Amino acid sequence: MTTNILVLDIAGNPFDWIAPQDAIHYYAIGKVAWELGERDFVFRGGYANTGIQSRIIVKPIIAIAGSEIMARKLRAVLPLGDNNDLLFKRDQHICAYCGKKFARHHLSRDHILPRTRGGRDTWMNCVTACKQCNQEKGSRLVHDFRPLIYAPYAPCRYEHFILSGRNVLADQHDYLAAKLPRHSRLS
Ligand SMILES: [Zn+2]
Repeated sequence: MTTNILVLDIAGNPFDWIAPQDAIHYYAIGKVAWELGERDFVFRGGYANTGIQSRIIVKPIIAIAGSEIMARKLRAVLPLGDNNDLLFKRDQHICAYCGKKFARHHLSRDHILPRTRGGRDTWMNCVTACKQCNQEKGSRLVHDFRPLIYAPYAPCRYEHFILSGRNVLADQHDYLAAKLPRHSRLS
């Protein structure tokens, strides 16, 4: 599995996960303000007149000198999305109704306020439920079924990046985890 580069804004806020080869662009245009991490991703370019091959070393965490687009994107709320991976990770693969831990294929997304009653796909309206509990609950409301074992919450930006990262390096995880709020189940 490929490792991605954690892109930050100049103030250190997580901004994006990108492929290492896509980070070359930021180095080439001189936009990398600072960098962190142990690993070197080395890319070789062409040969200069001196006969020396150019190379760019990309680090696991890079901060990019700011732009307007970045500032706008940073203000946006990070969505839950359609993919259940983030939701199941937030809830640590534990069913909110029976409290048991399940493998991914036994789990489903439960809408606390059912979709048939106008419930939406938001962090606050969704919890992880095993398929059996979800089926039993059907379109009932929570108080007509069973109490929730844990409460839903919207992850902060740092937590969202841990949840959405793939094959996250220790440096990257430590950077993000250091800023997690105390209520986070990942901390
Ligand atoms: Zn269950």
